[in-house]
Amino acid sequence: MAVIINGKELAAKVRENLKIEVDELKKQGINPKLAVIMVGDDPSSAIYVRNKSRACDEIGIEFEEFLLNEQTTMEELLSLIEKLNGLKDINGILLQSPIPAHLDIREAFNKIDYRKDVDGFHPINVGKLSIGEDGFVSCTPLGVMKMLEEYNIEVQGKNAVVIGRSNIVGKPLAQLLLNANATVTTCHSKTQNIAEITKNADILVAALGKPKFVTEDMVKDGAVVIDVGINRNEAGKLVGDVDFANVEPKTSYITPVPGGVGPMTIAMLMTNVVKAAKLQHNN
Ligand code: NAP
Repeated sequence: MAVIINGKELAAKVRENLKIEVDELKKQGINPKLAVIMVGDDPSSAIYVRNKSRACDEIGIEFEEFLLNEQTTMEELLSLIEKLNGLKDINGILLQSPIPAHLDIREAFNKIDYRKDVDGFHPINVGKLSIGEDGFVSCTPLGVMKMLEEYNIEVQGKNAVVIGRSNIVGKPLAQLLLNANATVTTCHSKTQNIAEITKNADILVAALGKPKFVTEDMVKDGAVVIDVGINRNEAGKLVGDVDFANVEPKTSYITPVPGGVGPMTIAMLMTNVVKAAKLQHNN
């Protein structure tokens, strides 16, 4: 019988510990603060931002939202980022994606001071991850590693297969697994005979965004399966990338959707904001 990894419970524990830490930091005059920039009025983004704001509230992290309208120019966006880079009371800056198509999100991410880049998207932080230096790491991959750690799942020497190579999830996760001494294979949309590769995985991560992509025949007996996917099925229900009902019996550990990786992402964002506040205070 597989252990179902409880991301909801684990994320709550991370947030509780952060609250204790933030209370202590406040006594030393350190008040962690996150600034979130949203451009336009994408309804899903509004929900994500609200969830981040709630998590901040719960932990005692200050939160300020900067709403820019749909017609905002690149100059205006960059100038806001520059202003926030310079404000001492702001420790973390997050640009909520998507932003309107006429704006260059990469240029905007690159403008964020890497010391305030709590999403871990800045090239300096990506580079630090790649050479194994401490920096800010993208929150979802960080959440996956935290789950493995908390459940005492051995990574060193294991065959890890990551399906998906996005800059936000797949690539940083593959790098983190490599840094933790796994033997890592990344699969993507051009990979041939994917099942032959996934069948060798001791740790299999699905991060592609396709419901029921990972089926039981693709999974080795006793594998650890981490489902990063968030999709809506035909009935409008939230599902992952793994055919959970059929895959679960073959695994040793598996994450559900919802209640798996999802809740960890915000918890790790909060962790990054607290880390940024401490680093900035010490420098
Ligand atoms: P993305 O940018 O769309 O990347 C998807 C990746 O999957 C790409 O590398 C793509 O390959 C690969 N892929 C697509 N179809 C494939 C196929 N048939 N076989 C093998 N690989 C395939 O997505 P993302 O931002 O990484 O997100 C992935 C999933 O995770 C989505 O469901 C998203 O909603 C979810 N997500 C969850 C969280 C969370 O907090 N739990 C956070 C972020 C994302 P190519 O590179 O070749 O195109």
